Amino acid sequence: MYKIIGLTGGIASGKTTVSNYLKDRGYTVLDADQYSRQTTAKNGPALPQIIEAFGEDIVNDAGELDRKQLGSIIFNDADKRRTLNEIVHPLIRQMMNADEAKFVQEGHVFLDIPLLFENGLDQRCDFVVTVFVDRDTQIKRLTERDDLTIEEAEARINSQMPLTDKVMKSKYRIDNNGNLDALYEQIDRFTEELESM
Ligand code: ATP
Repeated sequence: MYKIIGLTGGIASGKTTVSNYLKDRGYTVLDADQYSRQTTAKNGPALPQIIEAFGEDIVNDAGELDRKQLGSIIFNDADKRRTLNEIVHPLIRQMMNADEAKFVQEGHVFLDIPLLFENGLDQRCDFVVTVFVDRDTQIKRLTERDDLTIEEAEARINSQMPLTDKVMKSKYRIDNNGNLDALYEQIDRFTEELESM
């Protein structure tokens, strides 16, 4: 029986780096952020409901979502944020479920979901792997990658469930405080164990 494995972590903890390595090794990784962008792309399945809830002006003349405008609306309004999530989340889940059912026939499937625990999606995985880093490393990588100030990086980190909580809730952890070789070595060890289950 192939496994459904949740892959999560904190902002800039290294999920994408892990997921790219797994893909290079031939594993299937389904990326929640990618499905999210698909639902709201031009002609995406979420657009009609988004227009209904947020008005015609939320798309431009070419029928594309004005992400900046939507971002600033939901940033300032918790109800609107909930409305958007209620539209987008079921569609993401539907698309992911369909792909998961298809790919798990052929091999293990990783679900790369940043808000896995926050949305209770750990329940549907056989187990969860959390990629973690120390706070200082997280701030350093986040400020460098996204060109943020330390204060901006801290605000983003503080808005998430503490990474230590995610680690405690996970069966497996990957320590990404070291260099890439150290990271890849841990992933290799994990996949060896996975293949022997
Ligand atoms: P987000 O949730 O914000 O999308 P993420 O968890 O997917 O982030 P990555 O984008 O994989 O994190 O990594 C964050 C940054 O840290 C990237 O610039 C990446 O290249 C770098 N990075 C990841 N792992 C290491 C490492 N072991 N050594 C040095 N840099 C690293």
